[in-house]
Amino acid sequence: MLAAWNARELPVTVSGGGTGVVGGRVPRGGAVLATDRLNRVLDLRPVEGGALLRVQAGVSLAEVQRVAAEAGLLYPPDPTETGCLIGGNLATNASGARSLRFGSTRRWVEAVRVALVDGSSGWVRRGDLPLVGASVVCDLFEGRQIALPVPRWRLPATTKCTAGYHSSEGMDLVDLLVGSEGTLCVFLEAELRVLAAPAEILSGLLFFEQEARAFDFVGAARRALQPWALELIGAEALALLREQGTAIPAGARAAIFFEQGIAAAEADRRDDHWEAWLALAERSGAATESWLADSAADDRRFRDLRHAIPATINETLSRRGVRKVSTDTAVPRGRAPELIRRYRRRLDEQGFEYVVFGHAGDDHVHVNILPRDAEQMPRIESVYREMVEIAAEMGGAVAAEHGLGKVKNWALPIQYGPQVIERMEHLRRVFDPALRLGRGTLFPDPADGDPAEPS
Ligand SMILES: Cc1cc2nc3c(=O)[nH]c(=O)nc-3n(C[C@H](O)[C@H](O)[C@H](O)COP(=O)(O)OP(=O)(O)OC[C@H]3O[C@@H](n4cnc5c(N)ncnc54)[C@H](O)[C@@H]3O)c2cc1C
Repeated sequence: MLAAWNARELPVTVSGGGTGVVGGRVPRGGAVLATDRLNRVLDLRPVEGGALLRVQAGVSLAEVQRVAAEAGLLYPPDPTETGCLIGGNLATNASGARSLRFGSTRRWVEAVRVALVDGSSGWVRRGDLPLVGASVVCDLFEGRQIALPVPRWRLPATTKCTAGYHSSEGMDLVDLLVGSEGTLCVFLEAELRVLAAPAEILSGLLFFEQEARAFDFVGAARRALQPWALELIGAEALALLREQGTAIPAGARAAIFFEQGIAAAEADRRDDHWEAWLALAERSGAATESWLADSAADDRRFRDLRHAIPATINETLSRRGVRKVSTDTAVPRGRAPELIRRYRRRLDEQGFEYVVFGHAGDDHVHVNILPRDAEQMPRIESVYREMVEIAAEMGGAVAAEHGLGKVKNWALPIQYGPQVIERMEHLRRVFDPALRLGRGTLFPDPADGDPAEPS
């Protein structure tokens, strides 16, 4: 199929589960390659400390989690939306609440079977092709030899970044392909590393009277405890949950959802871990009406509440006939409180409706701006651009988990100067000389108009 489309010079857009929020799978003409029928779980092979799970790219994250859980295993990447497909997760290097402990999807990928735009395909295994030096000459599939420039640009000093192509010391070809947002290759299959599941997950929802106290708790928990997740639910998000009938304590203006897994070997120290969380919560001024999980079902309920926030916002806005404008910026460790204070000030000045929530442990807190109507959009987009610039100025990432797609491709130059962008474009052409795959994603298509303007 790809070879035939390539021969006809058609642009190709890959479509996964359609949960992406930056328009990456929305085609700019040409052909759409749907991957949802690549939906087979192929193998689960025990290895030390866990297993290797081989799946086709169209298997959903929910299914991967289910298969792992049934075998007493855990697939660590934890995006809150589980209707996405693994191919989409690989393309966007998805991450989530537990990325605080486990990092993003990239870290859990052992091998991928990919197709290039010309239809050639094959496996790429971790370690097969280390990207060292200035460039690497390698045989890609079916004998095609390429000189691959080694990515060497500085990423922001954040724990997460999905803006543009990856670059890091010691990386290999798998690291480059994962996170390339459907612009370098099509993922067909993946071998994923899964871990032994913990014996128990301690979790809770701690309520605070002030957001600043909640952020202080995050800093202290990161220093003193071993959190898997530290998620902020801001005042507006609590209001949304109250509207849906959740009995949030009256004085709460912020909440932190926390999780820590307890390995089987540590089960006898479980009570010590609980005590450490409770002591820190008390010292940090958490409300006595805070909620602690008594069971896996409670943890599930807290996670569902957290997921309900973006899901409810998306539904509200689709009823209004407008799309949300959502920050996905992260800043270096400890700087999220300052970023969010600055964001709030700017949004309050404008009188915009917005909701704050997200991955406080990773200094990656989302602000979703909710347009009242289409007329408000241009003003919101201009303030949004300022917000992206503020994060970059603070040494942050303009996109930390959603990627840039077509909706945010204008932000890439805010993250990197023109020379880096040129090198990224050069890298892309090595895989796809006519830029047919994922056209308009990451780099604006000239047909889209002025790339300096948010779209
Ligand atoms: C309510 C909600 C909550 C969310 N929470 C999170 C979160 O916590 N963390 C997070 O990271 N994301 C989150 N997302 C965003 C989204 O779920 C992720 O970006 C996800 O990885 C997209 O996967 P998908 O299968 O839906 O891909 P799609 O939306 O179909 O596509 C996304 C991009 O990947 C490319 N692509 C898809 N499949 C392939 C493939 N097989 N090969 C090559 N390229 C491909 C597409 O071309 C496109 O550029 C959330 C979304 C929603 C709606």
